[in-house]
This record gives sequence, C-alpha cells and structure tokens, in this order.
Amino acid sequence: MTAWRRDLHAHPELGFEEHRTADAVAESLEAWGIDVHRGLAGTGVVGTIHGRAPSPRAIALRADLDALPIPEATGVPHASRHAGVMHACGHDGHTAMLLGAARHLAVTRSFAGTVHLVFQPAEEGRGGGLRMVEDGLFDRFPVDAVYGLHNWPDLPAGTFAVHPGPVMAACDQFTVRIRGKGGHAAMPHHGVDPVLVAAHLVTAVQSLVSRGTDPLDGAVLSVTRMEAGTTFNVIPDTAELHGTIRTFQPATRARLHEQLGRLVAGISGALGAEATLEIDARAPPTINTRSEADLAAAAAEAVAGPANVRRDAAPSMTAEDFGYMLAKRPGAYVWLGAGSRPLHSPGYDFDDSVLATGAAYWVALAERALPLP
Ligand SMILES: [Zn+2]
Ligand SMILES: [Zn+2]
Repeated sequence: MTAWRRDLHAHPELGFEEHRTADAVAESLEAWGIDVHRGLAGTGVVGTIHGRAPSPRAIALRADLDALPIPEATGVPHASRHAGVMHACGHDGHTAMLLGAARHLAVTRSFAGTVHLVFQPAEEGRGGGLRMVEDGLFDRFPVDAVYGLHNWPDLPAGTFAVHPGPVMAACDQFTVRIRGKGGHAAMPHHGVDPVLVAAHLVTAVQSLVSRGTDPLDGAVLSVTRMEAGTTFNVIPDTAELHGTIRTFQPATRARLHEQLGRLVAGISGALGAEATLEIDARAPPTINTRSEADLAAAAAEAVAGPANVRRDAAPSMTAEDFGYMLAKRPGAYVWLGAGSRPLHSPGYDFDDSVLATGAAYWVALAERALPLP
C-alpha cells in the first residue's frame, strides 16, 4: 500500500482529470479478479466483490481520487512530478487504503452479499460526488448503506472518531454584485459609492450568525473576497463581495439565504445603490445515521481498540462532498487520525503508518455490515 500510495502521490491529478489514477485503480482491481465499472462521473471507478454467501444486502465503501492545485513543498522523494498539483488532502492514502481492503476482501470474501468499492473523482469542490449520484451510482449499484473515511491530522495517528448526527457542514458560495455610480473621488456627492455599500454589507452580514442564529446551532458566514476600484482618485461604478456559508440544519441554511438577500437589497437600497445576490448551493451537510455510525465505531474498535475510538469529537464546519451520497443513503463517515501537517498545506504528506489501520477498518466494517450466516 505504501508503494501504491507514493506512486499516486508522485502523479497527482485534479478533479475529473484523474485518468492515470483511475487506470491504476481499475487495473489493480481487474488483476485481483474484481468486476470493474468505469465512466461514472467521467473518471470514477466502481469495483464489485461478491461475498462467499449469497444475500440481497450490499454496501458501498468510498474513496476519493483527486489532488489540489497547490505547488508541493514537502521535499520527499515521491513528491509531485506535476507542477502546481499535489495530493495535499491525503486522497492518495484513501485510494491506497481502499485498494488494500479490496485486495483482501477479494481473497477472503468473508461476508454475505455485495461490497461496491467506489472511487470518486473531484471531491475538492468540483462536485464529483454529486456527479456520481446523478450518473446513477445507487441505481446501478444499489446499496443499503454507504461509508466514507478521511484522514484527520488533528487526531492521534491510528485513532478514529465517529458519531451519529452532523459531522461536516453544508457549503454554499455567494456573490454580491453592487452597482453604484462612479466618479471623481474628490466629488463623491455626484455619485453613489459602491465601496461604502460593500463595507456596510460586510459588517451587517456578521449579524446573521451572531444575532440571528441559535447559539447552540452551528453556522458560519465569511466574506472572503472584496473587489472594487482601480486607483486612488476614482470612485468605481461597481463592487463585488464573495464568501461562503456553512450550516448543518436545512432550516438554518434556508434562513441565512433569505436574510442575506434581505440585507443585500435593504442596505444597498438605503444607500442608493442596486445589488444582486447569487448563491451557489454546494455540498449538503455530512450527517451520519445512528445505526451505521454505531457499526462503523464497532469496526474501528475492533481494529484500534475501544480506547482509540472517540465518539464525542465535535463536528467540523468544513464541507465534504460525501454529503451528496449520505443525502441518498444511510451511512457513516469516519475520521482516521494521521500525524502530519494540516490538510491542504504545501508541506502535507499522507502518513503511511496508518495505511494498514485504514484498510483493516474497511475489511472489519464490510464483515460486520454483511455478516456471514
Ligand atoms: Zn481536501
Ligand atoms: Zn480530502
């Protein structure tokens, strides 16, 4: 697995461009006698293993294939050979662990029913999980539950965290376009300054979480980009704000969208400008179902010992495109502790010491979810 992982690390590919990665996965699965289906979401790969005993039950185990547009700065011998692209989120490790589990399960088949190994493209903000679902993932490969795993540098290496309920947040991106009336900076009274409107909006939207959201619910609204103007002495015609909204509850999500729209219209109108709001709804929240989370915890305990499985880890406001799959099927997403630099940093390298733990978890999970009679 270490050799596979380092080979994938040296050849990272961005979302929907994982051709070499998908080839490597498909060729390995085929070599082990596993049925391989290609083409879902373009570069997605699904491998199917039937257990020793017949059963209508089936589960999906999911890994992600893609890398990030970050220039690598690890200096390791297996560093990226593709300029500006690197596996900074450990998807090389996720793929290697699911391959390891696949090879083991294909030999032992100590389960009843079917295991589908789902290798999805484009997890990093490009909606590969949604494309897999839209391309008929669960119609072509019907399953009772779907399971995901992500390495998590905040946890001690080789330990797990899993709990029922919200694990990661829903993600939306928004754009506010403000139209004022530009002119000479020394004669502001002839125009409408969109920079001032933008500034009021940046401040006002902070009230949506701090004053408008139940303190015991979780939400984030961050303005992350402001664009306006070209020089010192010209008031521009327009200004733009970009940002992200993170929530767990659908009602909170809908309310923030509505209230953001009200502030954009109200504040720009009050100051004599016009403004539009566009919200690009991305991943739904990642919410584990109770019995699948319990099953995942039991599998993790069998591998790492009960003392090394946390069931009380706080959810994260980051988002996961696995939420698209959990929106369609029951399932659970676990974090596997891996000692390394922070995810998405140029110095990150997957912690190979946890490859065996992750693969053993997948096997233990499959054997528990689909027990032999
Ligand atoms: Zn990532
Ligand atoms: Zn990731």
